[in-house]
Amino acid sequence: MPNYLKSTGWAVPCLLLVSTLCAGQAPLPEPVTDQETELGQAVYSQLKEKGEIVESSPLYETLRPIAEAISKEAQPRYNHPFKFFIVHETQPNAFATPGGNVYVVDSLFYFVKNTEQLAGTLCHEVSHTIHRDAVHRLKEQQRIERRELGAALLLGPSLAQMIAIQMLGDLHSLAYSRDVESKADVTGSDVCAATGYNPWGLVWLFDEFQNADTKQIPQLLSDHPANGDRIKTLRQHFRDHPSVFAKFDSKPESATPLVVPKNAAEQFLKP
Ligand SMILES: [Zn+2]
Repeated sequence: MPNYLKSTGWAVPCLLLVSTLCAGQAPLPEPVTDQETELGQAVYSQLKEKGEIVESSPLYETLRPIAEAISKEAQPRYNHPFKFFIVHETQPNAFATPGGNVYVVDSLFYFVKNTEQLAGTLCHEVSHTIHRDAVHRLKEQQRIERRELGAALLLGPSLAQMIAIQMLGDLHSLAYSRDVESKADVTGSDVCAATGYNPWGLVWLFDEFQNADTKQIPQLLSDHPANGDRIKTLRQHFRDHPSVFAKFDSKPESATPLVVPKNAAEQFLKP
């Protein structure tokens, strides 16, 4: 199958159905073929069980063009298709799991000020997947046997579920080091630049956090004292690669407004 068809989860079913039927729908999860898809599937099952996964919503219309553009650029760097799911949680947030699933909390669409900030956040998340940060962290923690994650064999339903619960906790608690976060910012800015979305979006988001009330900052991005360092690292990366980044306007006034339906209705995937 050509890559442009494989790049997003909803591309294939949409070819088979009338496109308007599935335009606002969650993608179908990837079948389990290895440990990464198995962990991804186990986290998906957890979120589904908690009733968090949004099955259909007009918000998918807002997400789709951004997710498609990012997937197209990020896909050659990862061996499973990226799929973007909307979830309902209390805090605006986004997180990615092994296997290619990226979760975007519905309120993030209303939290960000423009398209570039949302695109920057999603580019950052797919970069964690490209770098295999979640799997590396699991190995570091050694809460499970190295050989179980190292061997090619599947983990089995109970172990995969146990790890998934732990992983979900980590993804909600700033588990990554500043260095790992900065590396995801840098790769994310490369991915965003390749899509044409202004990579300054992530800098604008951090700039706002510097001045914002801590309670209003998404948990995953609220690494407050480190934001200055993350901005510095990004600015340096932009300076070091003028052929890629010089063409982008650093001023937030140049941003593209994000079109989000007001009070978008949501239907949840039944547990
Ligand atoms: Zn991160």
